[in-house]
Amino acid sequence: MKVGVSACLVGKNTKYDGGNNYNKYVMEYLKDKDVILICPEVFGGLPTPRIPSEQLNDKVINSKNEDVTKQFNDGALISLKKLQEENVNVLILKERSPSCGYKKIYDGTFSKTIIDGNGIFASLALKNGFTIYTESDIENIIKKNG
Ligand code: SF4
Repeated sequence: MKVGVSACLVGKNTKYDGGNNYNKYVMEYLKDKDVILICPEVFGGLPTPRIPSEQLNDKVINSKNEDVTKQFNDGALISLKKLQEENVNVLILKERSPSCGYKKIYDGTFSKTIIDGNGIFASLALKNGFTIYTESDIENIIKKNG
């Protein structure tokens, strides 16, 4: 089985602050699977480290009030194409990211306020029929299976 995964969840230092979101449950889940790594923000041409961004309505704005919507859209499209070329239709995505976040994201005020919504890439993936899990979903699956 092939799974598309947010690169930061397997320890790649693609996070905005130059770090990662290594998750041991995700690693356990992936040990017998083919993994295709994506990082929509890096694919869209943003540097690492980079200024943190949040979605605000249809746009993505960084904390210096610069509009980075184009980079986020470009990166989402590149990620989608890569996954489709690899015939992937299941994803494990990092929660709350303005790109990868699924069901919950930050509200665009940089105040750590969480609202219902999907990141730019997660929205595109959903429209294209992908099944999405987050790292919390995977943790629950691993714990349930003992
Ligand atoms: Fe991780 Fe996605 Fe953010 Fe890249 S864009 S650092 S893969 S959450």
